[in-house]
This record gives sequence, structure tokens and C-alpha cells, in this order.
Amino acid sequence: MKKRVLITGGAGFLGSHLCDRYYAEGWEVICIDNLITGSASNITHLIGKDGFQFIKYDVTNYLDVDGPLDLILHFASPASPIDYLEMPIQTLKVGSLGTHKTLGLARAKNSRYLLASTSEVYGDPLEHPQKETYWGNVNPTGYRGVYDEAKRFAEAMTMAYHRYHNIDTRIVRIFNTYGSRMRLRDGRALPTFFRQALCNEPITVFGDGSQTRSFTYVDDLVEGIFRLAESNEVEPVNIGNPEEITILDFAKEIIEITGSKSEIIFNDLPADDPKIRQPDISKAKRVLNWEPATSRREGLLKTMQYFKEQVLNHD
Ligand code: UDP
Repeated sequence: MKKRVLITGGAGFLGSHLCDRYYAEGWEVICIDNLITGSASNITHLIGKDGFQFIKYDVTNYLDVDGPLDLILHFASPASPIDYLEMPIQTLKVGSLGTHKTLGLARAKNSRYLLASTSEVYGDPLEHPQKETYWGNVNPTGYRGVYDEAKRFAEAMTMAYHRYHNIDTRIVRIFNTYGSRMRLRDGRALPTFFRQALCNEPITVFGDGSQTRSFTYVDDLVEGIFRLAESNEVEPVNIGNPEEITILDFAKEIIEITGSKSEIIFNDLPADDPKIRQPDISKAKRVLNWEPATSRREGLLKTMQYFKEQVLNHD
């Protein structure tokens, strides 16, 4: 009997890469997505294949699927700052109600459950790099609060189901990740800088660009998640690439890699924008024997072709 996995947000950037990975590993994959930020084009290559099923559905509603489930991966959520601004209520609902519904399904099916959490639970961190033991510095009423607090609630709910209902749960804290299938216009720095650089338009750095991020190539993230799901680690695990860079240097790097003529311009810094972000991955190394295999430069070179096609076909 093939193992069966349900992936919510399965037509999104990360979800669709997870559909590919589990399908390639010989699992039967059920992908659920309401397509508000995901896209059917991310899974067209899987649709119609034996052992793959797509269901268009909003997981904040009562949820059931036919047959047994071995694993649920809850990846449904808007996940870029522009999305939270445009869809604050959906963001809160999928992190809270969606987590409750998917945990309820895990309980009914007696399946393992993995929650996609985020480095945003650390907010604008006062500890650097961020270890899993850090409790965070989050503004609950700010614009990003709808995502940060929903994911913090989702973690609490996941642990409660683990402790009270004995559900076999996992929590991954995902740091900034990039690769093919990112939306060109999701407002995040990486696709925006690629688009601007490839079109020789000004690169919009927010603030003075001294804030830092650490970017993870999607294949590395998927490997870390796959290992976490197979492991016995119930407490949260950071998965991210610790190679940290300022956003200004990152803009320069994209200009250099694309051979662009773009200049850099400085716009206002959005409210509550974290000043620093870098994962401490000693736990992932220890419990999953995982570390990123792709340097930022290698990953950006791999991803550039995808963005070139996006700019040509859709912009
Ligand atoms: N950023 C920027 N220019 C843009 C978009 C984003 O300078 O056009 C900055 C943003 O303010 C943040 C960093 O780049 O400091 C990363 O932003 P992103 O939206 O990619 O993700 P975040 O890590 O903030 O969730």
C-alpha cells in the first residue's frame, strides 16, 4: 500500500515543491488549495497522474477526505507582506481555523501532522541568530501581526493537540525561501529585485538597506522538511540557510548576477520590518543531520532562468 499525504496549500510555491517531492518518493499525494495565492499552473504537470489528486477547497471550513492518511502537511497561508496587507482576515483564519481543522482531520485519521511555521514567530528579533528557544518580539496589532500571531497560535494549537490528543506532530520554522514558482509580483524582495533587474528598472530598497535576511534555496528547504517529517522531533525546528546578507548588498548581488543596468533607489521602510534575521540551525544539524547544500549564489543562478521566463511570458 502506498503511503498517503495531504498537502494544504499544495498549489503554492512551497506546497507544490512538496507535492513533487512526495510524489517522487512514491507517495499518493492529495493537494488541497483554494488558489487565492497558489496557482493551478504550479501543479499542472501532476494533474491527471495516477496517485495525485487536486481538491480546490478552503481549509478554514470543515474538512474531510476519503480514505486513510499517513501525513498531513499544513502549508496553506498567504506568505508575503503584501498578501497579509491585502488578505489580513484570510491570513488569520487559515493560521487559526485552518490549523484547527487540519489537526482535527489528523486526529480523525490518526495521521502524523506537520505545521509550516515561520521565522516570523521571532518578530523583530532581539536575539541573533535565532534559536528555537527564543520566544520572539512580535507586535500583535501591527500589519504583520496577522501572520505572526496566526502562526504563533498555530504552533500553540499544534502542541495542544500533541499533548492533549496524542497527535504525532512536527513544527518547521521556515526562513526566507526562494526558487521557481515564486510569484513575480508577490512584493517580496527577491522576486521584485529579479524582475526590476531583468527589466533594467530601478531596484527598490526599503529603508537604508541595512536590514538583513538569510535566503534558502527551495530544494534545501524541501529536504529539511522531508527529514523532519520522518524524524521523531516534536518541538519546533528552524530550517534555513544561515548565509546572512544586508538587503542593500543583496540588491547589488542581483544586479551583478543578472548583468543589469538598474540603479538602486531607496523607499520607505514598512512598519515592523525585522532588522535582522538569521537562523541558528544547530538543532536541524543535530536531529536531522540537515544543512543547506546550495550557496546563495548557486541558488540565485539556478533561479534566474525561471524569473527570465516569467518576465518574458507574464510581465
Ligand atoms: N524589501 C525591499 N524592497 C522590496 C521588497 C522588500 O527592500 O521591493 C525589503 C523588506 O523591507 C525586507 C526585506 O527586503 O526588509 C525582505 O523582505 P521580504 O518581503 O522578501 O520578506 P520578509 O523577510 O520581510 O518577510
